[in-house]
Amino acid sequence: MSDNYITICTVKEVENPKELSEKILKWLQSNETIETELSYCIFSMSNKGYKPGNKHIDVIGSNENILRLKVCGVEIKTEREVFNAGAFTAMTKLECPNCITDRFEGITPQDFFTDNCTEEQLNRFDTVFPEFDKWTNNENASLICPHCLKESNLINYKTDNSIAFSNFGFTFWNWPDLKEEFLMELKAKIGTDIVRMNGHI
Ligand SMILES: [Zn+2]
Repeated sequence: MSDNYITICTVKEVENPKELSEKILKWLQSNETIETELSYCIFSMSNKGYKPGNKHIDVIGSNENILRLKVCGVEIKTEREVFNAGAFTAMTKLECPNCITDRFEGITPQDFFTDNCTEEQLNRFDTVFPEFDKWTNNENASLICPHCLKESNLINYKTDNSIAFSNFGFTFWNWPDLKEEFLMELKAKIGTDIVRMNGHI
């Protein structure tokens, strides 16, 4: 069985991810959106999350019974990572800050998904992942643009919000779509721009 997720994270790093997570957790727990105790309820078997609370239905607006699922919790992330990197493909926008050209320009979905890319095209794609790892590990991460040949910091590349370079986020495992008003409130509590990514594993 596959699991769906909604990941919400800040578009950029925040200064105090741990403090912020405590504040948001308290808010979610006082509204009974999530439980107060950690338990094994997320996709990862080695990490714990928070199960939906008694009033979680208030934020999803439907009474789909997610509590019947083993994986139904909320996972909190407060470390640097490329959010949603698992969904990264050559169809993801990664625009050079110097020449404003997409790194993957000219690669068609058909060629990419049927393994018909040229070696040069594949190289453009494969070279990104080591830089993702470097960034996650607080090392210098940069890419040389294949179009203008200029080297730029990874985080200066513009993306289409299907990935984010951040250090603060939540993943709601198998929750249906969250209400817009909840997302607005969440954004206000976090105090900075957030991005929502839907996906499945
Ligand atoms: Zn360029």
